[in-house]
Amino acid sequence: MVERKHKIDEDSELAVKRAKQVEEDVDGDDEFADLTDDEAVVVGKSNLQPRNFNLYLETINKKILDFDFEKVCTISLSNTNVYGCLVCNKYLRGRNKDSEVFQHSINENHHVFINFHTLQFYIMPENYELDTKTTESLKEIQLLVNPTYKPNDLKKLYTDKSMCLDLNKQPYRRGFIGLNNSGLNDYSNVIIQSLSHVKSLRDFILMTDSRTFEQLNLVAKFSLVVRKLWWAHLYKPHLSTHELMALIESRSKKLFSLHSCSKPKDFLLWLLNQLNDELSGIKQSIVSKIFQGKLLVNGDKRIKFWLLTLDLPQVTLFKDGMKLTVPQFELNELIEQKKYKFVKLPTVLVICIDRMKNDTKIVGISGSKMNPSIVKFNPERLTIGDVNYRLIANVVFDNNFEDSSITSSDDNHNDHYKVQLLDDVRNEWLEINDLKFKTIEKDLLFLDQSYLQFWEKI
Ligand SMILES: [Zn+2]
Repeated sequence: MVERKHKIDEDSELAVKRAKQVEEDVDGDDEFADLTDDEAVVVGKSNLQPRNFNLYLETINKKILDFDFEKVCTISLSNTNVYGCLVCNKYLRGRNKDSEVFQHSINENHHVFINFHTLQFYIMPENYELDTKTTESLKEIQLLVNPTYKPNDLKKLYTDKSMCLDLNKQPYRRGFIGLNNSGLNDYSNVIIQSLSHVKSLRDFILMTDSRTFEQLNLVAKFSLVVRKLWWAHLYKPHLSTHELMALIESRSKKLFSLHSCSKPKDFLLWLLNQLNDELSGIKQSIVSKIFQGKLLVNGDKRIKFWLLTLDLPQVTLFKDGMKLTVPQFELNELIEQKKYKFVKLPTVLVICIDRMKNDTKIVGISGSKMNPSIVKFNPERLTIGDVNYRLIANVVFDNNFEDSSITSSDDNHNDHYKVQLLDDVRNEWLEINDLKFKTIEKDLLFLDQSYLQFWEKI
């Protein structure tokens, strides 16, 4: 091992010498003076021996590789021509002699880079593009940056009960992995998780060549998260939504970001509208096909809807010793009370149980509270008209009732959301609270304070 390290050092020195040679060559030739990064590809490529580069490949540090961040050069902040250093995971720009990648390879003695756009590997500073055979041996890294699925992979998602193994050989269930919470973005994580579990949307994303979405920024970034979430070869069993949320932050003019709290319902509506707008350019958007229903209002007016909001009856709670008596309602009855006239029921019906109206009174405690009423439902069947649905995702408030009676919770900041997801291959429900997991009994789901539910047609 020591010997090998020594060899790598030697090779590195060689590489620096070679690089200097490349630099001199470039400097000495006016033809190269105004090269852009892309045009500089050919520089120094031809005369190098790939033999020694295999040793560089051993410096790849899989344990720290993380491709979830926005593909922006950390030094120049450029977002074009960005590479990932596979030794230290830094994102850097370009390959020409003035570029951040070139400098980094010399200064830090790091030599293996991946181009985030083309997914080609390069040895720097020699500017050597790895040959096809070597690239094949690093395919898992390419797929980690941009997972792609074949029809057979999709079939497995409907049948395979096995667990996958991460880099540390720890088992994880694909599709059921935690999303990092920077402190305030559980509101967006629960929506991203829920949407990723809508099979018709997921399957469309997994089976569509990601290049189709290249011009559709939001769809592309969202699809990348979904493709990573269901990937069977993750190095670590959790993801960050940084790249997607960075785009959402700028697109929504900071209405939604990783750094401020919002309501999951508002985020869901915004996201569905935006995804729908982008996809409508291609064909009739799959988003409206799945999620949009139609209602008849005021006699003959038809309106489209993304979700149904149900009101909870106003409640006054009485303290009974240390416990509060919580009223219970049936989900079916709450829907019937609204007297909706459906023209078309969607494939996936989203229901929002509005708990945020400040009309809950708790006798003996001042201030308005979230409505803690229990809404009872059968997750396996909800019948509306002649359509049957089953629950696939349930977004619930994390703060249990006792806690919310202690803290003042009339602003958003005390709200924390978690999501309960159906794994129908294993026939179990999993609750994901940021990075924490537990299995839950489907018969006890109603005990939590459901807030947003995703019902799929059966
Ligand atoms: Zn590096």
